[in-house]
Amino acid sequence: MSGPRETGPMVCAVCLEPLNAFHVMSQDGAATTDVVYVHVLKVAHDHDPDPRPAAEHAEEDLTMFCDFCSSTQVKWAYRAGPIRVAVLNNEDQLEHVSGATIEWAACQRCAELIVRRAVPALVNRVISLGVPEDARATLTELYEAFFLTLEPGRRRIRQKRT
Ligand SMILES: [Zn+2]
Ligand SMILES: [Zn+2]
Repeated sequence: MSGPRETGPMVCAVCLEPLNAFHVMSQDGAATTDVVYVHVLKVAHDHDPDPRPAAEHAEEDLTMFCDFCSSTQVKWAYRAGPIRVAVLNNEDQLEHVSGATIEWAACQRCAELIVRRAVPALVNRVISLGVPEDARATLTELYEAFFLTLEPGRRRIRQKRT
């Protein structure tokens, strides 16, 4: 599956968890149209991602993660972006660029910080929950881009368990 089209959010048809889309980089550093899907949650899965549009499933059946702290207790959806995120490999070379999701899910705790546009507090919260300290600058940039492109209003997420 490849093509220049921008797809909506994708989920894995096997586990109904969200997938991240990465555009593979060519040798000269340009983003190609090849898209690779990986599970958002960086734990071992016993299957390869089977990408399907999230829109094909009822929202309350999907496993969703807070796009900030990864909590599964998501409450609110915000629209911001798209924000292009460069991912570096172990040799600090640009590996691929991800078009970050337009819709961002947030748990109640992160939503309280989003209302206050509290970037440092959001970064501190995410790092206190286990993200390495050396991601601080990247997270700060990412959240500043989020607030720059944040659209007014928010939407309540439908979930079976809250
Ligand atoms: Zn899966
Ligand atoms: Zn959160």
